[in-house]
Amino acid sequence: MSFQAVIGHNQPISVLQRAIASGRVPPGYLFAGPPNVGKTLVAVELAKALNCLDEGHMDPAPDSCGQCEACRKIEKGIHPDVRLVRPLVKLQEDDDESKKPSKRERRADDSTREVFIEGSEITRDQVAALMTQAHLHPVEARRKVFVIERAETMNPTAANRLLKTLEEPPGDTTFILTTAKLPDMLPTIISRCQSIHFQPVPAEQAGPALREMHPDTVPETVEAVVALSGGRFGWAHTLLSRPEVMAQRSALLDLAVGLPGRQMFDGMRLAEDLIEIAEAWWSATEEGKLAAKLFKSNRDRVLRTMMGDVLDVLLTWFRDMTLVAADPGTQTIVNRDRAVQLAELAGRYRPTDCVRACRWIENTKVSLRQNANLRLACEALMVRLISLTAIQRR
Ligand SMILES: [Zn+2]
Repeated sequence: MSFQAVIGHNQPISVLQRAIASGRVPPGYLFAGPPNVGKTLVAVELAKALNCLDEGHMDPAPDSCGQCEACRKIEKGIHPDVRLVRPLVKLQEDDDESKKPSKRERRADDSTREVFIEGSEITRDQVAALMTQAHLHPVEARRKVFVIERAETMNPTAANRLLKTLEEPPGDTTFILTTAKLPDMLPTIISRCQSIHFQPVPAEQAGPALREMHPDTVPETVEAVVALSGGRFGWAHTLLSRPEVMAQRSALLDLAVGLPGRQMFDGMRLAEDLIEIAEAWWSATEEGKLAAKLFKSNRDRVLRTMMGDVLDVLLTWFRDMTLVAADPGTQTIVNRDRAVQLAELAGRYRPTDCVRACRWIENTKVSLRQNANLRLACEALMVRLISLTAIQRR
């Protein structure tokens, strides 16, 4: 891997390459952009380009070889001067280990695996450890690079601690903060960093790359996932890499296909199906004991987090339905592998009803983020979606 091998993000990368070439890499970067779009990936590539031991890769633009000892250590996440910090999950109060993160969680924090649920945060201790290291000489690197992922989850104490260091930065360290929620960041921190904005990876770039990476997947499915991802390349790749997740997408679309003809009292059962899909989606994405433990101790928060992805898929179904109901020959649908079913069912919905369905789904997403009761919110949504076709039959 190298800058050159990154799919998309040409503009952010050229800004970074110019900084390396000029020898003026700032003490703080803020990478802002959609979740799972490739911000951390580019941050790691920057760390490699700054520390690669093979100088043959500085021309025509600074990059890394991906093969020297420094590059390999950074890629594996074991370089002593390059650190990646992610939000720690706070366990529920009733968990007997709630006071201290277990060894396993601390390991997970340092690993490259992504475990995130709503309500996780970057703690004072995590930031304090980085600050101490920032003021020490590098062990091996030319420049230390500390990546703080989802920096908006820093608690206020942690953020203020970081701010102090950014105000008087040690000369040989670059902090890279990533966020998908720029408005949640402290303005004082934003102003101390050079902001770089990441755009969704265009489908023309993501499509061919993902088709090459997943030659055994049907092209229509790859296209559907690319469209569904909205330019979040990493998310699309993860989805395609895990057949069990794809199976959940399928189950969800089957549920949507079955909606017309349902009775109102089916709403409760369909809500349960929806929650089961969210649970299966979690276990398919997050393997291992930590994920299982998290689910056990934070079931509600895990399901809320996953329900966001689940409802996004449902949303694409009704957006597609809106398009097909308005123009049966449309080529712009997301779920291309379901084109036949969409065409069959389009007659059951009026376009205005599909628009209402999309609004209900969006509203449910918002209310779940605001702590609405998961089961009740899902039930209410299902009953409404059923009502669209139930009313028409009268
Ligand atoms: Zn190298």
